[in-house]
Amino acid sequence: MLAPLPKPDLPRSLSAAIIRGIRGCCPRCGQAKLFGKFLKPIAVCPHCHQDWTHQRADDMPPYISILITGHVLVPVIIYFGAVADISMAKALAICLALAAIMMISLLQPAKGGTIALQWWHGMHGFVPSGKDEANESAHPPAGTGPWA
Ligand SMILES: [Zn+2]
Repeated sequence: MLAPLPKPDLPRSLSAAIIRGIRGCCPRCGQAKLFGKFLKPIAVCPHCHQDWTHQRADDMPPYISILITGHVLVPVIIYFGAVADISMAKALAICLALAAIMMISLLQPAKGGTIALQWWHGMHGFVPSGKDEANESAHPPAGTGPWA
């Protein structure tokens, strides 16, 4: 039997967990970095000992990056096509550079948020889920709270 994980400052909601993930912090404790390399999450959090090997972000971070980049760049593309007085080659070069920069810079936050979402809902082997831990922390069983 595995020892229970230490109880850090758990996020109180899904959005709090996702914000921690977007910031590149451990969604469970918020005290350690979630990524060891650019898109490679650490195996185990050094602060709260949460096992992050269960994450399966797969293609979700690129989908999120492309979705946001596309929606942000559409007005820029329309501006270049309808208002700006620059050549098509310059407009294309600017838009492609902006798209590449935005997509690469959004990948890690999108992956952190995706991992936090999976952890919160207990997907792919995250047991107990972040939601269950947060509920248990907010409503401990009778006789186990700090006032027991
Ligand atoms: Zn942690």
